[in-house]
Amino acid sequence: MGIINHKLYIETINAYIDPMMAVENAIITHGHADHARIGHQNVLATQNTIDIMKIRYGDKCAGSFQSIEYHKPLKINNLNFTFFPAGHILGSAQILIETKNSRLLITGDYKTSPDSSCQSYELVECDQLITEATFGLPVFQHPKPENEIKKILKAFEKNDTKTYIIGAYALGKSQRVIKLLRDAGYDETIYLHGSQLKICDY
Ligand SMILES: [Zn+2]
Repeated sequence: MGIINHKLYIETINAYIDPMMAVENAIITHGHADHARIGHQNVLATQNTIDIMKIRYGDKCAGSFQSIEYHKPLKINNLNFTFFPAGHILGSAQILIETKNSRLLITGDYKTSPDSSCQSYELVECDQLITEATFGLPVFQHPKPENEIKKILKAFEKNDTKTYIIGAYALGKSQRVIKLLRDAGYDETIYLHGSQLKICDY
């Protein structure tokens, strides 16, 4: 692969992307626990991702943080790093690594469908692509979120004396479901689990 190896380690700058273990230099695509881990010496990420890491793991979850804005290239040695919105959760990024003659894109988790709880996915041209493959098989055909929300609202109407519990991952999915419910006109109180509250308060 040249610039990067199978562990997403970039030897020329001694940095990993979304490392599994604590390392000296970590470049983090987004705040989900399987990508953003604690104990790194230096973290480079979007400000949203840094904030989310601090909310979930505490201010001292890494030695130092450097934030990077979307679309603003950062040169590290001979490599140019540019972050682009991945449409996955708030602050999520695809990372473009450019050399003089090649463009390598590491997608991180991404979602191309609209989601107003985070920055919209942007298509990035590249020569080489390292993509996440969650739900990548054709067998996964997600229904339209708006239609699913309609089903939930219909169920609420039918059984208005009952309490509904909707399970959703605390970071990302919860905010998306809440936003979809509000966008569909649902204005009743929604009660949250503590882990969801911390993120929703942000
Ligand atoms: Zn994720």
